[in-house]
Amino acid sequence: MTPDAEKLWLKILEGVKTQVPLQIYTTWFEPTIGESIAQNTLWVKVPNRFFVDWIEEHYHSMIYDILKIEDDKLKIRYKLAEQTKETSSTKIYDTDASHLQTRYTFNNFITGASNKFAQAAAMAVASAPGKQYNPLFLYGNVGLGKTHLLQAIGNYIKEHSADAKVYYIECESFMNEMVDAIQNNRIMQFKNKYRKKDVLLIDDIQFLEGKEGLQEEIFHTFNFLYDAGKQIALSSDRPPQGLANLEERLVSRFQGGLVCDIQSPNIEMRVAILKKKIATSKSKVPDEVINYIAEQFSSNIRELEGALVKILALSTFTNETINLNTTKELLKDMVTVKKIITIDVIKRAVASYYNISLASLKSNRRMQSIVKPRNIAIYLAREYTHLSLVDIGEAFGGKNHATILHSYNQIVKLLNKEEEKKELSNILKLITTD
Ligand code: ADP
Ligand code: MG
Repeated sequence: MTPDAEKLWLKILEGVKTQVPLQIYTTWFEPTIGESIAQNTLWVKVPNRFFVDWIEEHYHSMIYDILKIEDDKLKIRYKLAEQTKETSSTKIYDTDASHLQTRYTFNNFITGASNKFAQAAAMAVASAPGKQYNPLFLYGNVGLGKTHLLQAIGNYIKEHSADAKVYYIECESFMNEMVDAIQNNRIMQFKNKYRKKDVLLIDDIQFLEGKEGLQEEIFHTFNFLYDAGKQIALSSDRPPQGLANLEERLVSRFQGGLVCDIQSPNIEMRVAILKKKIATSKSKVPDEVINYIAEQFSSNIRELEGALVKILALSTFTNETINLNTTKELLKDMVTVKKIITIDVIKRAVASYYNISLASLKSNRRMQSIVKPRNIAIYLAREYTHLSLVDIGEAFGGKNHATILHSYNQIVKLLNKEEEKKELSNILKLITTD
């Protein structure tokens, strides 16, 4: 292994990481190593030949786009490592982790008219898994607590019966595992892994739309667990009958238990959520500030929390007291932007910020210099307009709903980085002054 080769490949992987879902990255890219550079060829070691096929088929052009920035003459070739038991693809089947995050509990879930039915149903399921409502199907818009409730079910069950095999997974990750299993002749292990669970929580099931193979697998897993009296809980951004291209037999399975929706919270509930979050911080926030935030952020609890975090950060880092004026000033972008924003304004701001054409934002080009601005524009469109994923897809050259969601998530993942946050806030400034 030469250090140059290793470094160069790591650099390429960094670019890859920003463009593919994390699960894809860990499955297909993490186990690869830049091995050597010789005669204009970078040799990359991969665990087995499936990796070569998969990477070449799906990511060839993306990798070359990234490589071009470093060196536009180099070619990439893949070398097979000897197959051992410990390749990454075996790793994911052995995991016993239930993918639960302890911060999602029933205790810190505030209820009100918009979600009390969903919360009560989730609680009933958690208290008597497999007995009452099976499956539980929760649906609602983004940021309203679906993931929180699914995870709370899992945490509650774990807490009350430590031996229960509880498993939370996002539908997209389920599919990636399945594809990996097929590629590696491990489909039986994959099936067994899921069929051994006592409680299966699958998030964002709308990802099933139009994916026949995935639907087939979920259908069989579902039936197996259901017949064995195991609990299944699902979430989606739409009710079962609203999912396009979903097999009828799956729709009827999903409707066979209890379907409940989560609506946007009313003002009292938004205030209650803010107060609960403030109580766990050391800061003092005056009521008029709480009311102001609750009024401005009405449709998405994640945004509501985001606004609060922003003002709490100010008081912690600068020791400034929080009052209505500082709050208004601080949230100016987030608030005013919401009122005037249109997708065209977003596109223009993003294109001018990155100095790219409006047309490229609508294109399918996968160059990194375009992919990121496009993802950012899509992110902003979703956050600051009331358009649906389908509408946003239309405005970006006819992309489907899953593609838009994927782009959005790519940016969400970057938001904990200072540099990216700064970029976004600069673009928002452009938008507000547009
Ligand atoms: P979804 O999965 O529906 O998009 P999440 O479950 O991720 O939404 O919720 C977004 C954020 O809002 C999370 O941080 C979650 O903890 C918080 N949240 C949502 N609903 C509530 C609630 N009723 N009480 C307290 N926090 C909530
Ligand atoms: Mg969620």
